[in-house]
Amino acid sequence: MNQPPVRKVVIAGGGTAGWMAAAALSRQLGPLLDITLVESEDIGTVGVGESTIPTARTFNALLGIDEAAFMRATQATFKLGILFENWGQVGDRYIHSFGQVGKSTWMGGFHHFWLEARAGGFGGDLGDYCLELRAAEQERFSAGDDPRLNYAYHLDAGLYGQFLRRMAEAAGARRVEGKIASVRQRGADGHVEALVMESGAVVEGDLFIDCTGFRGLLIEQTLKAGYEDWSHWLPTNSALAVQTRSIGPAVPYTRAIAHRAGWRWKIPLQHRVGNGLVYCSDHMSDDEAQAMLAAEIEGETLIPPRLIRYRTGKRRKTWDQNVVALGLASGFVEPLESTSIHMIMIGISRLMQLFPFDGISPAVVERYNRLADDELEKIRDFIILHYKLTERTDSPFWDRVREMEIPDSLAQRIALFRESGHLFQAPGELFQVDSWLQVMLGQRLEPRGHHGMGRLMPPAQLKQALDDLKANIARAVARLPPHQAFLDDYCAPLSKS
Ligand code: FAD
Repeated sequence: MNQPPVRKVVIAGGGTAGWMAAAALSRQLGPLLDITLVESEDIGTVGVGESTIPTARTFNALLGIDEAAFMRATQATFKLGILFENWGQVGDRYIHSFGQVGKSTWMGGFHHFWLEARAGGFGGDLGDYCLELRAAEQERFSAGDDPRLNYAYHLDAGLYGQFLRRMAEAAGARRVEGKIASVRQRGADGHVEALVMESGAVVEGDLFIDCTGFRGLLIEQTLKAGYEDWSHWLPTNSALAVQTRSIGPAVPYTRAIAHRAGWRWKIPLQHRVGNGLVYCSDHMSDDEAQAMLAAEIEGETLIPPRLIRYRTGKRRKTWDQNVVALGLASGFVEPLESTSIHMIMIGISRLMQLFPFDGISPAVVERYNRLADDELEKIRDFIILHYKLTERTDSPFWDRVREMEIPDSLAQRIALFRESGHLFQAPGELFQVDSWLQVMLGQRLEPRGHHGMGRLMPPAQLKQALDDLKANIARAVARLPPHQAFLDDYCAPLSKS
């Protein structure tokens, strides 16, 4: 059947995914499309998702967003990485920063020089060679050019949605308030034709973007695209989220603190702190989680904790017929490395690149789905890594994840690093070698060997080169202001913007 051209785009759902899609499509393709977003204030949004990775800046740049205005509007802070606590063993701490570690050569990564130095009894801490890592540790930050840091944001998800909504509406997107009561499909092939609202209003479209969150109203409840369950690798399935008043300067990193049945996040914003307890209900009851969260959070609670249930995995097809799922409707890997907002952004940019103006073709759908699957599977492996490499033996949860079978793709990477120190970034993969390195070493995976290139230098020369690099980084970090001071200045109402 010939597919009709696509002009009317209907976005179902107005959480982060829906408004990101509406803002990007209306700003980039507005004159060619008619964009409507449908959302229900009664249903509301998931209300979490406040830690990002540096690609958030790419998205902002794409939309022509002024950074200081964005930071003020969303009460954002800067993020240089994640501090992982208690993951390898109880008491361990390491930072996975967004930075590069040393300078790599075409033959191999910098860490081979460092491993050579360490074998010789010098070389120090890997963090000595990473600007972002040391800046995060010392809670220093600048968005300037000297030194230039690779960074992301912590933001208020509700305020971010409102910010994007203003942009989208200014660019011509139309908003319809109310509950979607049913979805009307075309008889011939089941394509979605319209959303029927509780009010009786009908919102027709050519292409539908399902941003209805975990319920996947179009992609799953209507089209039954199916779900690939990853809970045997990523068994957490519950989160309790609570906001507290800030009680000190905002740190430029997210905290991910492991506990006996999962982990806890702490995300500093300008006006409050986001906290959450992620756990596996096989190993911790909701009451126990509630008590643990209450005992561990600091500062006055601003709203009572909210319980969120999820199942890790992904839709078998993120684009099915004329429905593209974004955000939680497309699946959920778990929030450990703050990748969901990134996946929304990548989904939107991919959709714009492959946009089916002249009608949806199976080849385009196939291409979109393949790219989405490939990227998500690599992210999944990276997240499983954090669990699999634990040395904790203090609870059934950690025994379970330490002993679980893992995907072959990940097992091979772990073996490669363990035996030879080699790492790689696969084509289309989000996480770079520096990320794998920081997490593998942070989780106590010690390579038995490394590339011999470090031995091309006499030890004294290698030591001098490493000392120089370390001193340069220490000097650059010392020039940075404290993160909170920079933030106060950058976001002051009358500051440059
Ligand atoms: P939602 O926010 O659930 O929005 C769904 C929308 O659909 C709402 O507007 C709702 O009103 C509408 N809707 C649903 N049904 C109907 C209906 N029948 N009629 C009309 N409207 C309807 N991501 C990150 O990048 N970083 C993080 O740190 C992070 N932490 C997370 C922590 C947890 C515990 C969880 C669960 C997720 C986290 N995420 C994180 C993921 C992130 O929250 C989501 O990717 C993001 O918020 C997008 O959500 P959404 O827009 O897909 O869904």
